[in-house]
Amino acid sequence: MLPVDLSGFSSFRGGFAREHPLAPLTTWRIGGPAELYVEPADVDDVVVAVEALRASGVPYRVLGGGSNLLISDRGVRGAVISLARLNRIDVLEGVVVTGAGALLHQVVSRAADAGAAGLEALAGIPGRIGGAIFGNAGSRYGAIGDVTLAVDVLTPDGECECLVPPAGFFEYRRSRIGDRIVLAAHLATDAGDPITLRARQQVLLRERLGSQPGWVGNAGCVFKNPAGRSAGQMIDDAGFKSEREGGIVVSPRHANFFENAGGGTADDVDRLVNRVRDAVHRAHGVELEMEVKRWR
Ligand SMILES: Cc1cc2nc3c(=O)[nH]c(=O)nc-3n(C[C@H](O)[C@H](O)[C@H](O)COP(=O)(O)OP(=O)(O)OC[C@H]3O[C@@H](n4cnc5c(N)ncnc54)[C@H](O)[C@@H]3O)c2cc1C
Repeated sequence: MLPVDLSGFSSFRGGFAREHPLAPLTTWRIGGPAELYVEPADVDDVVVAVEALRASGVPYRVLGGGSNLLISDRGVRGAVISLARLNRIDVLEGVVVTGAGALLHQVVSRAADAGAAGLEALAGIPGRIGGAIFGNAGSRYGAIGDVTLAVDVLTPDGECECLVPPAGFFEYRRSRIGDRIVLAAHLATDAGDPITLRARQQVLLRERLGSQPGWVGNAGCVFKNPAGRSAGQMIDDAGFKSEREGGIVVSPRHANFFENAGGGTADDVDRLVNRVRDAVHRAHGVELEMEVKRWR
């Protein structure tokens, strides 16, 4: 149980709630409640919240758009901090400065509308900027790390820093953010034509919708692609398309997407993950690595 005394929150201006349901905050619509849910109003508020939580010994995690997360059916102990209110987007000359809570698709659209090119590869990826930086979100056309000039972070010691990512900071679907909290990102752009940029976005969105399910009821690719290979193809080859565990089904459209067909649980996902991993290992000798993050 959390300590009743959270007096460090006296100057906190955002919202918080105990036993807050997390499932509606994930695209999979799976997961139990957060013991404490915290939604800071701005960066200063994030600092207040983190200090208060550390002082009371309450562990915390950061939630973005919940589009790459599998949350335990029993919920999570400690606090979940949502940065959804840090959603300011400034499109400046040669750079987009965006709060960690801004939705990635809004950042991409705002940049295109303002004739700022360079973010098109990210069109159609759900989630928020903080989650995108954490997992180096991207597509076959490029990843957010390719255009990230700097990231404003809060360190575990409570220091706000502007981090300029060194070479090797971003890799395929991972970054070295570690236990720092992403507060904002500075993304490089070039001058472009808004009509061309919007048209490119539409092409990429259509390409996605033609080959994978929509934004709700799944969490994107469950597994990372092993070097030079497609996890989806390997799962398909193992005969797992449309396989089911409880309410979770391997998507018939794209075998690396597991869909919540209704009433699916994290335990169902775990069981299907284990079966798929075993089958792919037997068929291909490859150990699939999870792309989705697991909160227990
Ligand atoms: C239909 C669909 C399609 C998808 N397609 C793609 C794709 O093409 N490419 C791709 O890369 N991904 C894809 N994804 C997965 C997902 O959208 C991305 O990984 C996304 O960047 C996750 O961001 P999020 O804000 O939802 O993060 P969350 O799922 O909320 O969190 C993911 C991780 O990031 C951490 N995190 C979140 N915010 C912060 C922060 N501010 N500071 C520090 N850590 C933080 C969390 O603690 C967690 O560990 C897809 C998902 C869906 C549902």
